[in-house]
Amino acid sequence: CYDLIAELFERIERSKLNAFITLNKEEALKKAEEFDKGKLKGKLAGIPVAVKDNISTKGLRTTCASKMLANYVPPFDAHVVERLKQEGAIIIGKTNMDEFAMGTTTETSYFGVVRNPYDLERVAGGSSGGSGACLHNESVLALGSDTGGSIRCPASFCGVYGLKPTYGLVSRYGLIPYANSLEQIGPMANCVEDLALLLEVIAGKDERDSTNAGVDFKFEPEDKRYRVGIIKEMSANDDVMKVFEEVVDIVRERHEVVEVSLSSLKYALPAYYIIAMSEASSNLARYDGVRYGYALEKLDTWTRYFAKVRAEGFGEEVKRRIMLGTYALSAGYYGRYYLKALRVRTLVRNDFQRAFKHCDLLIAPTMPTPAFKIGEIQDPLTMYKMDVNTVPANLAGIPALSMPMGFVKGLPVGLQVMGNYFEENKILSFALELE
Ligand code: GLN
Repeated sequence: CYDLIAELFERIERSKLNAFITLNKEEALKKAEEFDKGKLKGKLAGIPVAVKDNISTKGLRTTCASKMLANYVPPFDAHVVERLKQEGAIIIGKTNMDEFAMGTTTETSYFGVVRNPYDLERVAGGSSGGSGACLHNESVLALGSDTGGSIRCPASFCGVYGLKPTYGLVSRYGLIPYANSLEQIGPMANCVEDLALLLEVIAGKDERDSTNAGVDFKFEPEDKRYRVGIIKEMSANDDVMKVFEEVVDIVRERHEVVEVSLSSLKYALPAYYIIAMSEASSNLARYDGVRYGYALEKLDTWTRYFAKVRAEGFGEEVKRRIMLGTYALSAGYYGRYYLKALRVRTLVRNDFQRAFKHCDLLIAPTMPTPAFKIGEIQDPLTMYKMDVNTVPANLAGIPALSMPMGFVKGLPVGLQVMGNYFEENKILSFALELE
């Protein structure tokens, strides 16, 4: 194990992907030694795992890819990190991401963009871009977080598997929050079985997250003929649709395929961004340069100090979202934007529930395009629109997987598989059979 882990670090140090922000080399090599002496036990004993840099790791720098937290070393482990350690996993480092998980390409990282393993000129997706890219050959497993597609997007762009679990299945204790009501930590891997194993380890009861459902997960593959719905409102460009339709033909050989329409989905994207930005504006108020994070030497007046810390510590995209979120929550506009978005959220949830009355699973392309060129999308609105197929699952809280479904001009594209609450077993069984 020692030699393998040492070789992994050599690879990472030589790599052009920029998938990692901080390496845990010394500690990881120590663990590998323990494994070789037969002292490391558990379901993940000796397996390298990369952890997204918004998940707290005791004694290991956790930056959220922001200047604001560039020197922050958490005094505690997130629940999922405790679980990894209990099961003998070797945490090799913290992965690069969009600043505070706000983005779809990892271009907003203070530590530079992550490059796509299939084409270094292209993005790896985001916001868990480092966790997606590192699975190419720099880690075996990775943890990401998904507020509106941040696990599934890089999984699609990097040709790997990524699952956003049911809201409440995995404890968010120790996840630095962006939009609490939408996000989940989830597994990323190179095959269904690895993905399921990592989910088994991180899922389960934790009283420190009040939204935790207290439910365990155990993968028991079932061999069933499912009723699979194709969501009419979730589309992609022509090249991606061609691959998708080929996959649908394969699915049809084993399962019953029907078309379903979820009419509320046309409002899902704006509703997601209103809710996400509103929650973000409130969550990010804690970065005041006093308690932790970026600070200035001289304290002028309190308000000037506060403004300066935040002006210097946050990047452009984060500031844009804090401003828009604050606006959406302000007294005169609360009813006009935030409350309306919450209503749409209910409609989306109800539409999914109606669909799951007669479908076991729903499928769609994960992303509307394959990975695009770094710097190609400059306009924020065009960028937000890339999330159109991924955000509905977060609004509804249902589990959603992205798995590789083929290639478009040498670039991987993902198939999204959604199930009803806590039906990860169905999703993974379906994926295992299709793999
Ligand atoms: N791209 C989406 C956003 O920027 C998703 C982010 C995420 O899931 N963390 O909000």
